[in-house]
Parts: sequence; structure tokens; C-alpha cells
Amino acid sequence: MTKGHDPVEPVCSFCGRKAGDPAVGQLISSPKGTAICQGCVKLCADLYQKESKGKAKAKPKTTDLKTTVDSLIVPKPKQIKTDLDKYVIGQERAKRVLSVAVHNHYKRLQTQFKKAAEHGLHEDFDDVEIEKSNVLMIGPTGTGKTLLAQTLARLLHVPFCICDATTITEAGYVGEDVENIILRLVQAADYNIEKAQIGIIYIDEIDKVARRTENVSITRDVSGEGVQQALLKILEGTSANIPPKGGRKHPQQEYLKVDTSNILFICAGAFIGLDNVVKRRVGKQVLGFSNNTEKKKRTPRQTKTELDRAVKMVEYEPEDLIKFGLIPEFAGRLPVLSHLYPLKESDLVRILSEPKNALIKQYQKLMAMEGVELCFTNDSLKALAHEAVAKGTGARGLRSLLEEIMLEIMYNVPSVKNVDKCTITAKVVRGEAEPTLQKKIKQIKRQNKKK
Ligand code: ADP
Repeated sequence: MTKGHDPVEPVCSFCGRKAGDPAVGQLISSPKGTAICQGCVKLCADLYQKESKGKAKAKPKTTDLKTTVDSLIVPKPKQIKTDLDKYVIGQERAKRVLSVAVHNHYKRLQTQFKKAAEHGLHEDFDDVEIEKSNVLMIGPTGTGKTLLAQTLARLLHVPFCICDATTITEAGYVGEDVENIILRLVQAADYNIEKAQIGIIYIDEIDKVARRTENVSITRDVSGEGVQQALLKILEGTSANIPPKGGRKHPQQEYLKVDTSNILFICAGAFIGLDNVVKRRVGKQVLGFSNNTEKKKRTPRQTKTELDRAVKMVEYEPEDLIKFGLIPEFAGRLPVLSHLYPLKESDLVRILSEPKNALIKQYQKLMAMEGVELCFTNDSLKALAHEAVAKGTGARGLRSLLEEIMLEIMYNVPSVKNVDKCTITAKVVRGEAEPTLQKKIKQIKRQNKKK
């Protein structure tokens, strides 16, 4: 008896189910002898669709750059300043400088694109060309530098991102490539490259990439210089290749091309020690102009007060920034200088209560959700401001101080019955008393009557 050779029953090469299995449905075979069942075809189609949806998300959206620029509503400097006033207390001069700078930047863009449309992109205009004016903000921590930049971007409805200069390194060193800064802006623009190209990048701690000494020839600290060179390229305007997922670049990668020439860069830093550079410059001038008899008449104290006053009055000059450690080309790319001054106690009191999203208002809203009215006496605000000034971290200190006080209140008060008012006094701020809780008198009376 010869062994019967059963014809091979076709099976799905993916799930292994046989043709007879009701779940298999139709089986499609290939000339190579493999097969796929209906269920597996559907599964593959679903997987493919999901993946291509994900890819579509990361894919840059494209709109016309001119349309994007045209659609910008550029308020007048006065309007920008009025809007800034709602969020930023004090810093009047900085607000003016920035309002003008930002207005000019976006007006310049709109005009440039309008002209390009009228005359054709490659035609030379015999007009004066207005250069991009990136901004440098100098001021101690917690004085509103980030807040100003952030508010400006919100007012203009342009993408905005914050980065820290200390995390950037020259290509080839451990750390972030300078291109990652631009990637953040692209991400803030939801991968809309055109929108990103007219956004604002805020680079904090720019003073930390300064060369450490002005005497370059003796002890040269090149670490900061390399980063400045790398930043210089994107500040000047370049067509940057951005790895879409960030990280280091490698040759096999696909890149997003982003033109940085219309991005507004706002750099900021505390520049501790810059006043000494100014003092030296001003001091030289003071001594230079005075004759010997005058010099003898001045006491050291008089000279110091005079210099301090001079430093306060004199605006920093690009020359001072170069002495501080910025390379000349880099300082030259930040032509708009804006100074923020340490906030006074009275400013901090206003910061607590006046801005649209003032800290006090936020806590009051939170407590109102618990049915409790939160009150701060005027003295309590002054005490908070006084302690924040002592901390030396500007308005930043206010949040941590308030958080400490409010933590206990927000922990305890919701569990206390019938409270409808909580008052914070200066003594509470100084830790010498507990907040006063006021009970709902009418309700308690009603309850007592019922009893
Ligand atoms: P900086 O960037 O100068 O270190 P920030 O702008 O980050 O300081 O300020 C920290 C916080 O302090 C802000 O979020 C804001 O709540 C508050 N703040 C600082 N300066 C001001 C100001 N001039 N007006 C209103 N709020 C301010």
C-alpha cells in the first residue's frame, strides 16, 4: 500500500490558521507559496493607518510664509506698552524699548514681504534696508525679563520658546546642539515651519557664555566663545537643518529646513559685574575730565557716590558688553539693549495684587471655590514684599513665600465647617499669628435657632 499523500491544506503565513477555519475568511496566496488571511489583511491595514497618522502629525505643516506674515496683527508701540502694563509692573523704560523693538521687527517683516510681492523676490530695492534688531535684556533675577518676552509673544500670537544658554555647547561637545533651540520653536508652532520662522526665541543666562576674562591673550576661556559663535549664526539668519526629533545630528537623518532670519531673538542675563566694567569706563572719563586740584578735593566717598550715580544714569554700551566677555560680532547682533532694574518693595506690593493673573488673585479664586473669601490686609502685602526683598530673588521670592503661608491654609480651611472668610495679616506673614477665620454668622444663628 502506497502511502496516501494528503494535498497540503493552505494556511495563513501570518497567524498560522488553516483555510477551513471560519475566522480566516478568504485566503490570498502568493506565487511563492505563502498566504495571508482576511483577518491579517485587516490587522495590517489598521496598523499601517495608525502609523501613517502618527507620521502626519510630526510632518511639517506648510502654509505660505507671506500669508502667515500678512495675517499678523501688529499693534502700535503704545498699544503694546498698554497691554504689557496689565501684566508687568514697573520697568517702564524696558517696556517702551521692547514695545518699539517688537513693533518695528514685525512691521519690517510685513513691509519686506509686501515689497517682495510687488517687485518680485529677486529685485533689489534701492530703499534703505532695515536690519533685524534682536534684543538683549540685562537685569537681576526675578525682575520680569522672561515675563516680558512671554507676554510679548502672547500679545502678538507668535510661537515662543525659552531656552537656557548654559545647556548649549559647540558641536562635538556633550550637551545640546544650537539647532535644538530652533526645534523647540518649531514644536511650539505645532510643526508649522512658516509660523516658527516668525516666532520669538528667548535665550536665558546669556551672560554665562561670556568669556571669563577681558584679557584674551593671557588666560583665554574659549568655551563660551564657541557657543557664542554657534549662536551668532542663527541670530544672523541662516538656513538651519533641524533634526525633527532633536538630539545630535547624524548624516543619515532627514532634516527640517528652518530659515532663522526673521526669528526675533531676545537674549537675557543678569550680567553680574557689568556695572564694574561701566564704573571703570565712567571712572576713567570722570578722572580724565577733572584736573588735579579737583581730584584732590574729592574724598573717596564722594568719588564712589559720583560713580554709583553715573552707573545708574549711564546706559550700558556695546563696548562694556565686549569687555564683559561677549565677542564683538555677537554683541553687534543684539543692538537693542533693555535694562531691568531691581524691584522695590512698593513694586512687589503691586505685583502681588495688580496684574491680571496676580498671585493674590489666583489664591483668592482657589479659596472662592471652597466658598471662602480670602483677604490680605495692606500690611500683610507690605510684609510679604519686605521679606521678598530680603531674599534678593526679586518677585520670584513672592511665590515661594506665599506658597508656604497658603499651604497650611489650603490644607486646613476646607475641613473647617462654616468658614466664609479668612484674613491674612502682617503677623501671619511673619509667622507670629494664625490667620483669622470668620464663620458664616447667619447660618450658625439659623442652626442655633433650630436647636
Ligand atoms: P527673570 O526672567 O527676570 O528672572 P521672571 O520674569 O521669570 O524673572 O519673573 C518670575 C516671576 O515673578 C514671574 O512669573 C512673575 O510672576 C513675577 N514677576 C517678576 N517681575 C515682574 C514684574 N515686573 N511685574 C509683574 N510680575 C513680575
